[in-house]
Amino acid sequence: MAQKYMSMRNLRFQLHEVLNVESLTQHPRYADHSKEMFDMMLDTAKQLSDNLFFPIYEEMDQKKPTMGDGVVHVHPKIKDVMKETGEGGWIVAQEDYEHGGQQMPRTVYSGANFIFHAANTSAASFFGLTMGSAELISSFGSKELQETYMTKMFSGEWQGTMALTEPHAGSSLGDIYTSATDAGDGSYRIKGQKIFISAGDHDGVENVVHLMLAKIDGAPAGSKGISLFVVPKHRVENGGLVPNDVFTAGFEDKMGMKGCPVMHLVMGDNSDCHGYLVGEPNNGLRYMFQMMNGARISVGLMSCGLSSAAYYASLEYANERPQGRTHSNRDLESPMEMIINYADVKRMLLFQKSVMEGGLSLVLQCAYYADMVLVTEGAEKEKYQMLLDLLTPMAKAYPSEMSVQSTSQGMQVLGGAGFCSDFPLQQYYRDTRINPIYEGTTGIQAMDLLGRKVTMKMGAAVMAFGAELQETIKAGMAVESLKERAEKLAASATKFQEVTMKLMGLAQSEKPEVFLADATLYLENAGILAVAWQWLKQALVVEAKLAENPSGEELKFYKGKQAAFEYFYEYELPKSIGLTKRLMSDYRLTLELETEYIN
Ligand SMILES: Cc1cc2nc3c(=O)[nH]c(=O)nc-3n(C[C@H](O)[C@H](O)[C@H](O)COP(=O)(O)OP(=O)(O)OC[C@H]3O[C@@H](n4cnc5c(N)ncnc54)[C@H](O)[C@@H]3O)c2cc1C
Repeated sequence: MAQKYMSMRNLRFQLHEVLNVESLTQHPRYADHSKEMFDMMLDTAKQLSDNLFFPIYEEMDQKKPTMGDGVVHVHPKIKDVMKETGEGGWIVAQEDYEHGGQQMPRTVYSGANFIFHAANTSAASFFGLTMGSAELISSFGSKELQETYMTKMFSGEWQGTMALTEPHAGSSLGDIYTSATDAGDGSYRIKGQKIFISAGDHDGVENVVHLMLAKIDGAPAGSKGISLFVVPKHRVENGGLVPNDVFTAGFEDKMGMKGCPVMHLVMGDNSDCHGYLVGEPNNGLRYMFQMMNGARISVGLMSCGLSSAAYYASLEYANERPQGRTHSNRDLESPMEMIINYADVKRMLLFQKSVMEGGLSLVLQCAYYADMVLVTEGAEKEKYQMLLDLLTPMAKAYPSEMSVQSTSQGMQVLGGAGFCSDFPLQQYYRDTRINPIYEGTTGIQAMDLLGRKVTMKMGAAVMAFGAELQETIKAGMAVESLKERAEKLAASATKFQEVTMKLMGLAQSEKPEVFLADATLYLENAGILAVAWQWLKQALVVEAKLAENPSGEELKFYKGKQAAFEYFYEYELPKSIGLTKRLMSDYRLTLELETEYIN
């Protein structure tokens, strides 16, 4: 197992030198924090990951969860994972002081979360889900629900889940069947089935609390009739725990993320499954979107974490693997070349580095906007909210799609060894493959971006994004060494605007299927543009630092950054040209093709 899975130097660069996260402490919500405290939090996250999460990453893949006597057994260390993260305040970290939290900025927590997922994404999912679901109760639940369930979740004693998916309804949540009947005693009787519920039952905790979507009898059809419930595995009655008629029917055998089981749950077979309404009836999907948006940012971080771990594993191998000689060296007596010296291997490594560090930059930018939403008011708050809304599907889809490609390139660097279980690359590849699928597939993110976010408020979010791009482009134009690439970004931004205008025109003149047909390609294009913007932001810092003549490791770090920036602009940004061509085309193959011809 390769030892390095992420770079603290890069994380500090992103948080301090690019985002200047310390500036958040000017706002009352974060005034008790300081740069030193942020660094201490990140160091603690790294220690926890080094000592607890990373050592069991491979083992959790090999010793999958088992089920016996009605109990789901997960890796024994999951007990420690929940205990340490609960007692260490990680699950409650971002919460308000009044709920026992530390009001840790989302940007800093995201840095820590990136470390956790790079070390062991299966382990990190257990407490990550608990955090998101407990935060839902904190935001929308009654005081009673907060006291009874949330506190135990924040302390890591009880697991939290998000229970949305049903056998017939995954992307289309408006079609769920799970029902809730008012029992007249302040609770509802829940009946139905959920599948794929991550960490939905296990012996690492004494109770599991599902934040579950269901429809109250007589509710409007579709997503307008969905409500949110707390449905515990064991409900609290008279101070004790009693079984709540939530039956674990089994779990899936998956290709990756094997350490974190996904459950098939059956509720109410004995008509005794109690659910407790969160907030108002029929508002469930709106509430759940708080968790889903957070989870989408988290999936971006998971993807970057796995891409990072894969990058460092393949880098280590490339430095140590001798193979063949350069084309110009005909001397067969000379020692073989380390593969890292070949241009094609450098290309693969730079691809991994540039999409991972660029993707991470974008995700952290979103977390920063989420903080700014919390600490600003009025028009400023609205601007940050729009930027966050617009960029969230990109921050979920770009890192997750690129993580599949970059972990695959990581395997390629190892040749045959990459395909074998002696090396971790195959596990990173298998583990990251879920990321473009859950929390809304890439196709669903694309429709969210183009069908909802781009059109909202008469295109105001796209304009706000354009203004952010222009600010960075202007700064880039003013630096001689960055001018040419700033111009490339400006040209891409103009093309993106043209594509958006064309699609908006189609949205007005044709049925929605037409303008949404290639939404996924639009999202891909937007992701490339957003990451190019992030790379220019990084490059501005790098150029300023290089002007100070650093030496040793610092010089290497900034030169490495410069190379990854150049790689992105020379190899990745041009992909936007092909995508633009396709998006501007009126040829409607996928819309017009008779389904029978691909059968
Ligand atoms: C490991 C794992 C963990 C999971 N954890 C959880 C969890 O904790 N909680 C939970 O609730 N769920 C969970 N899920 C479920 C996951 O969120 C869903 O699998 C996902 O949302 C996709 O739904 P689906 O599988 O039903 O696919 P479908 O919705 O059937 O989609 C199949 C394909 O069709 C496309 N498609 C669907 N609808 C449209 C449309 N209208 N227009 C164009 N294309 C469309 C999709 O993009 C996709 O490519 C998990 C799944 C897995 C595999």
